[in-house]
Amino acid sequence: MAPFPPRLLAGYRNFMAGRYAAESARYRSLAREGQSPETMVIACCDSRAAPETIFDAGPGELFVLRNVANLVPPYAPDDRHHGTSAALEFAVQSLKVKNIVVMGHGRCGGIHAALNPSAEPLSPGDFIGQWMGLVAPAAEVVASNTLMTPAERQTALERISIRYQIQNLRTFPCVRILEEKGRLALHGAWFDISEGELWVMDAETGDFVRPSLGETL
Ligand SMILES: [Zn+2]
Repeated sequence: MAPFPPRLLAGYRNFMAGRYAAESARYRSLAREGQSPETMVIACCDSRAAPETIFDAGPGELFVLRNVANLVPPYAPDDRHHGTSAALEFAVQSLKVKNIVVMGHGRCGGIHAALNPSAEPLSPGDFIGQWMGLVAPAAEVVASNTLMTPAERQTALERISIRYQIQNLRTFPCVRILEEKGRLALHGAWFDISEGELWVMDAETGDFVRPSLGETL
C-alpha cells in the first residue's frame, strides 16, 4: 500500500507549528460552540481557486461548497442524491448564513468542456458532460458567437454561468423567501488565476467590476 503523501504530512506539520499554534484558542472555541459562518461560498473544485486562500479566511469563517464549475442545480425535490442542494439547505436553514457567494474563475475546465461538448467523455459515465448540461443553453449561445475569440467565449461563459447559478439559487423556496425578507444576500464573483484579480458582480446590472478595496484594507 502506498504511504500517505509525504507532501501532505509536511504541510500538516507546518500547519500545527504555524496556523494551529497561532489560532488554537479559536479552534477550541469552534469545537466547543460549533460553527456559525456568515458566508457560504460555492466555488469550483479547481485547485488554483481555493476560497479560503483567496479571501484569507480563518477557521469557521466560510462554509464552502466546491463542485465542478461552481454550479447550482435548480430546486428538484425528488429521490435523487442532491449533494449541492443538501449543502445549500444546511447552510441556509441550519447555519442561517447571511451571504451566498457563487465564485467562478478563469480557465475553468468545466466551462471549457461545456463550450466544447464534442470532446470525448473522460469515462463512459460522462459525468462532466451530464453535469455541465446545467449550463448547456447558455453554452450553445456563447459557442456559436464567431466574433468572439475562444478566450473571450471562455470568460463570457464563466461569468454568464455565475448569473445563471444565482437564478437557480432563487428556485429554492428557502433562498427566495429569505432574500425577499432581506436576511440573505446572493453575490457573484470571478477570480482570474494568473493575475490574482477578483471581479464582483454588480447586483443591479449583473456586470462584473473590480471592487474598491480601499475602505476594507
Ligand atoms: Zn473551474
